Amino acid sequence: MFENEKINMVIARQKNIALIAHDSKKHDMIEWCKKNKTILEGHFLCGTGTTARMVAEETGLPVRGYNSGPLGGDQQIGARIVDGKIDLVIFFSDPLAAQPHDPDVKALLRIAQVYDIPIANNRATADFIITSSYMSAEYVHDIINFRKNIEDRANTL
Ligand code: PGA
Repeated sequence: MFENEKINMVIARQKNIALIAHDSKKHDMIEWCKKNKTILEGHFLCGTGTTARMVAEETGLPVRGYNSGPLGGDQQIGARIVDGKIDLVIFFSDPLAAQPHDPDVKALLRIAQVYDIPIANNRATADFIITSSYMSAEYVHDIINFRKNIEDRANTL
């Protein structure tokens, strides 16, 4: 029997950070990663395929690459959030260009919201997050108790 609506989750001091940049923002992402290289070195990085490759090549940081965004990379990152394997998302999206994988982008934003994962959609937010004291500390937050949620739904629907 699961009683609580919410459960405590801990974002560890060393974070799993996902990097995603739409094409017009990839150079901004590389520049941002270079500027923050010393901080980023202390964490684990992953990203959508092309972003991960370009950041790794240009900065020397190790970045685990998933599929390219339009080929499912955003969905892979969303699934990792559900599994509790991604703690923070830096997503430089392009607000002025239509994306073929717009539904995947929306899904990623939504699932980050569901699991209370910090997600930066522009550089200013990324700057605020990367300079936060939580970057070098544990962060405890409450997220929805998905087991209780299933139990309640199975018992009431
Ligand atoms: P990409 O994907 O890093 O493979 O270009 C990013 C995206 O468009 O979501």
